[in-house]
Amino acid sequence: MLNFTMSELIHSDTAVKYNINNMPDINSLDNMLYLIIFCLQPLRELLKKPIIITNCFRSSALWTKLYQLGYKPSKTSQHLKGQAADIKVNGMTQQQLFEFVKNSGIEYDQLIWEQDNNCVHVSYAKDKNRRETLIRDTKGNYRKV
Ligand SMILES: [Zn+2]
Repeated sequence: MLNFTMSELIHSDTAVKYNINNMPDINSLDNMLYLIIFCLQPLRELLKKPIIITNCFRSSALWTKLYQLGYKPSKTSQHLKGQAADIKVNGMTQQQLFEFVKNSGIEYDQLIWEQDNNCVHVSYAKDKNRRETLIRDTKGNYRKV
């Protein structure tokens, strides 16, 4: 039994506001299933608390809108392929959640504590997980931890 819904994986406030199609293609959907089954669901079971997904899939149409709005979205973002989710857990700070994921033993590609937008980003890339753990500071600089 999985604790995540399709609607939370494709939800974007910007997509709703500007009526943008944020439906994944079949390959992104496949990536999202891997992300859920091998990373987010096992984390959720260890945590025994709901994981709130604030952002997961971003279509190229949504990317273009975010760019036009001045958000400087990354062209290589794993959100574009359905491989990444930004998560939070009620009652945990971003640092606590970051440390929890880092020490969980659950496989991921990249785990990033994005201090500049107060978010924990986790990705899963089937067959090529780098298991890279990074902090992005308030100036947008990355460092490995
Ligand atoms: Zn992210």
